[in-house]
Amino acid sequence: MRTISMHWVWIALLTGFLLSATASNGSSSELASDGPTKTLIQRASLIITMDPALGTGPLGSLADVDLLMEKDTILAIGKGLIAPDATVLNANGKILLPGFVDVHNHLYQSVFRGGCAHDDVLGWLQKCNLPIRLALNETDIYAAVRLSTLDLITTGVTTVVDWAHMFPQNLAKANIRALEESGLRFVFAYSQPKEGLDTLRAFKAELIDPNPLAGFQLTGGTRKKSAEHLADMVNLAHQLHVKVNVHLLEHIDQRQEDPVGVLARSGALALGPNLLLNHAIHLTDEDITLLAKSGAHIAHAPLSNMRLASGIIRLPELHKHGIKVGLGLDGGTNDTSDVFANMRTAVGLQRATTLHAGTFPTVSEVLRMATLGGAEVLGLEHQIGSLAPGKKADVIILDPSAINFAPQWDWLSQIVFNGQPANVEYVFVNGRLLKEKGRLIGVAEKDVIAAAEQAADRIRRSLDPGRKPGKE
Ligand SMILES: [Zn+2]
Repeated sequence: MRTISMHWVWIALLTGFLLSATASNGSSSELASDGPTKTLIQRASLIITMDPALGTGPLGSLADVDLLMEKDTILAIGKGLIAPDATVLNANGKILLPGFVDVHNHLYQSVFRGGCAHDDVLGWLQKCNLPIRLALNETDIYAAVRLSTLDLITTGVTTVVDWAHMFPQNLAKANIRALEESGLRFVFAYSQPKEGLDTLRAFKAELIDPNPLAGFQLTGGTRKKSAEHLADMVNLAHQLHVKVNVHLLEHIDQRQEDPVGVLARSGALALGPNLLLNHAIHLTDEDITLLAKSGAHIAHAPLSNMRLASGIIRLPELHKHGIKVGLGLDGGTNDTSDVFANMRTAVGLQRATTLHAGTFPTVSEVLRMATLGGAEVLGLEHQIGSLAPGKKADVIILDPSAINFAPQWDWLSQIVFNGQPANVEYVFVNGRLLKEKGRLIGVAEKDVIAAAEQAADRIRRSLDPGRKPGKE
């Protein structure tokens, strides 16, 4: 592997000079009084920048280099960086990459992990999702989202889209509170029934806009009866400059609803890249051509699609048509929030379908989908998704010296085929350390689990009053 270009050596040397100058003029003591604001990750054996201009190969890989971050931003990547006032983290033998971007999830659904295990998506929606969703109170939703966010951090997710239906606002607020407390970067996808549409503006202004880690999207449906509401969401999305986020053709029977026609008639297709489509499995050739022309983006959730017997997305065709696709864990597979399993499933489903090992996505392509590709789908690629000076410090460090991962042969492939959440040793979001030496920071895990158990128990009993507490 190539080490580093002269361009980057020059930037590193210049940065080192500037940092030394800063230290010598006395401002380092100022920084010290506020605690360390710089972190120098030294001698990483591999940094996967996701930017081909910064290193070798399609993912811009660099060997034996340092990464320096200050507060929420990456300052420099290069050899021999000098920052006397930085906290130093030795990454020799480790792999650095951008935090994973989960473009589709429903975090409250961790409260019924393992539920409706013998149903397809329609049965799961009818028998589990709907009755449980209606039974949730504020305490339940807070407990479930809190649990899910910890699970996401554990697997190296740093940004998540949480699709929150039309929850009453008190539930939505409890949901957001748990997201905020997690330290994750998040996009809250939300809507209200027709009579509550006006409140969405204030909701965004009060609960989302003040938080630099939060984003907002509007949700809608793609059934014929949802068309009018979806058109309202499209109008509001134009006013608020946000995306519209819908589920599309997750089950084959949904073709009867002509959902692509609903998207066209409601004006959603005209949103172009501001339209995000979840699943998009049962597309015809004509649908793919139409979506490609529109510029809409897609969220692919392969583990969920397998678990719920939904089908296999036409990923190579979408790629051929230039449609941007990111990866989502989805709530249906909140049985496990494992980005590594999700990536290898995305690869494996297409290989098994096409009988071709070189089909899209390759190992490099799926790693890009899980990071920079996801950021592009959300329109956040100027901030996150790659490791480069000026980008937000969403960084994860993998330890490949584990029994499921070693020995080193081809680390890029091993991340996809061998990786497990336990291999994620450090997680930084916006420069803040959330996982250190394999442990979540500042979290009483037992309490979070106990609260989720209580919520699940309460809901099960409310749905089946004859059930004894805590018993199957
Ligand atoms: Zn979904």
